[in-house]
Amino acid sequence: MAPWPFWQECFSPGDKSPWSRSVDWVSSVEAARNWSAVNCRMPKKRGEMKKDKAYNRREFINNGARLTLGLTVVATGVLALTRPAKGVEYVWQIDPFKCTQCGRCATECVMAESAVKCVHAYALCGYCDLCGGYFKPGAKLQTGAENQLCPTAAIQRKFIEEPYFEYIIDEDLCIACGKCVKGCSAFGNGSLHLQIRQDRCLNCNQCSIASACPSQAISRVPASEPYMIKGTFTNKEEG
Ligand code: SF4
Ligand code: SF4
Ligand code: SF4
Repeated sequence: MAPWPFWQECFSPGDKSPWSRSVDWVSSVEAARNWSAVNCRMPKKRGEMKKDKAYNRREFINNGARLTLGLTVVATGVLALTRPAKGVEYVWQIDPFKCTQCGRCATECVMAESAVKCVHAYALCGYCDLCGGYFKPGAKLQTGAENQLCPTAAIQRKFIEEPYFEYIIDEDLCIACGKCVKGCSAFGNGSLHLQIRQDRCLNCNQCSIASACPSQAISRVPASEPYMIKGTFTNKEEG
């Protein structure tokens, strides 16, 4: 077979490689052998072979050390880019514009009760009577559990004035299934969205939901701005 490492060792910049002279694999191998025999260091005597072996071993170790050093430098660079800057605190948060409400926020959190909750951007809400986040599609406009999208009845519907209704999330009941968010995004203004509640989150070194998220919607954000807001929903408003 083609003495690949040996031939490669002989190859130097500016040389015309035998591989470039022929596109046929078999004849390329032959061409490489012939080219190596003429152009490369070919030890003939036993002593020379020993010296050559020692030389190759040294070179192999040196090359390996250089490669290891190179990889370490590259890895350090990558880590430096992904690691938060020194002195700046970061927390995990969901970008509501990337979230596709896949349901994993309800099941992938390390906490028994997910740290993710549905939140409501009231400034965006249409206060609709027929709320796409509250009622199942085609359901009667009645507040019976059978008509509600939320599996835990975590959304309270409150009459404001004809024909407006306010929808309030009971976060203690919310399991972060995202069903209301999907309904609101499909039929309403998208004012309901999922956020990692920082008072519930353990700020794991690697958020297990982020690892499972199919939309790469979860990333680290500065702790000074721990929510990725929609409308006027802000950390300050929520206290
Ligand atoms: S895992 Fe990602 S896409 Fe799925 S609900 Fe959570 S944030 Fe949204
Ligand atoms: S439908 Fe799901 S995400 Fe929305 S409030 Fe109910 S439990 Fe929370
Ligand atoms: S960082 Fe940990 S506790 Fe917080 S949402 Fe992700 S998995 Fe849950």
